[in-house]
Amino acid sequence: MRLVVLGGGESGVGTAILAKKKGFDVFVSDYGTIADHYQKVLIQYGIDWEQKGHTETLILNADEVMKSPGISEKVPIVKALLALNIPVISEIEFASRYTQAHITAITGSNGKTTTTLLTYHLLKEAGFHVGLAGNIGKSFAWQVAEENFDFYVLEISSFQLDGCFRFRPNIAIILNITPDHLDRYEYNFDHYVASKFRITKNQQKTDYLILDADDEAILKYNMKNKTNAQIITFSVEQKVSNGAFLNQNNMDFNIKETSFSIDKDVFPMPGKHNIKNAMAATSTAILLNIRKQTIRESMMNFQGVPHRLEQVSKVKNVSYINDSKATNVNAVFYALDDIKSPIVWIVGGVDKGNDYSELMPLVHEKVKAMICLGLDNKKLISAFGDIVDTLVEVDSMEEAVRLSQILSESGDTVLLSPACASFDLFENYEDRGNKFKEAVRSL
Ligand code: ADP
Repeated sequence: MRLVVLGGGESGVGTAILAKKKGFDVFVSDYGTIADHYQKVLIQYGIDWEQKGHTETLILNADEVMKSPGISEKVPIVKALLALNIPVISEIEFASRYTQAHITAITGSNGKTTTTLLTYHLLKEAGFHVGLAGNIGKSFAWQVAEENFDFYVLEISSFQLDGCFRFRPNIAIILNITPDHLDRYEYNFDHYVASKFRITKNQQKTDYLILDADDEAILKYNMKNKTNAQIITFSVEQKVSNGAFLNQNNMDFNIKETSFSIDKDVFPMPGKHNIKNAMAATSTAILLNIRKQTIRESMMNFQGVPHRLEQVSKVKNVSYINDSKATNVNAVFYALDDIKSPIVWIVGGVDKGNDYSELMPLVHEKVKAMICLGLDNKKLISAFGDIVDTLVEVDSMEEAVRLSQILSESGDTVLLSPACASFDLFENYEDRGNKFKEAVRSL
């Protein structure tokens, strides 16, 4: 069997190692360059590879192809493979064939990383032999090749799900579905929703599907397309009978025979969205029979996740919050919703087709000044120019933070929550968040 891997990054190299171990004839091809450390690994494992282009004769003879999630289906080599009916799958699909471990798979437009890290933390603290993978850290395939975990918690993007056909997680979580990445889904929201629901496609009645009961897109799709799995829901707006809901200050859980309550403030990350993330993670822990006391204690000592509503510091009684990972409108909605003081909002970058109307009431109520940090701010200016008193444009983080200090006063919050991708001025969202933190610390 010949397996060709397109993309020599973390998931590609992990897949190549696993495939080699399982006896495949493996070839890795990358259109760009493969990082030095991955080249070394491929050589060490005796895996053939190429970079800076795809050699068709070495690729179109594959029995199966693993495509890294970053590669679009529209690139010529993938089109050629699909035209020849050669199966193109994702790393998650490939690796899941070779493990019997219990899998919790987490998807959604926002909150994946936070919920995945919290779920992993709850399982680990309870003494489970558990691996963390997906978009985080060492790839799933690599771990399946070299570790022997009994449980995995996986963060799964829709791009990974598009290449899943038989993948069957024991517990699947769909956190929320709001417009994002529509450029990869023919600008059709329904296609994107359907992609997320692939996570439950192969589930059976002994499996669980955990869903947000407040999310219209999820409810609508779920009504039409029945899953085989047992459904557990969570909500901050209504009481739910089999799942979790916000009962004044408490998260109430009623799952199978277990019922208990946790003060919502036990979870250290702020905002309603994080209550939802905590509910989804805790529901998983309950399904795995982890003790209430262990859950409570573990939740309390969770360290939070950088660049997600991260409190940086207070300078002259102004709070500075780094939410650089907010790369779409819905994530910003929850940031603005959570902050109670007047806000100086640092926003902008590469727009992914944003519709800002959802933010209008919150911006009108709370934002006193907007600092547009991007190469092209036209869309932001036309959306908010008339409702925000002060709006300025800058092209560096130092300048943005310096101005934010001038525009804020005691009791205010300066929020970096860009609603956009970072590639115009920064390497990635981490670079953007780190530059923000550095600039704040040197105020
Ligand atoms: P993902 O891995 O899906 O991108 P993250 O946990 O990295 O999600 O969070 C990304 C952004 O979305 C952050 O700004 C965070 O504050 C916000 N966020 C986190 N959870 C949710 C949620 N459940 N709903 C909406 N926004 C969220």
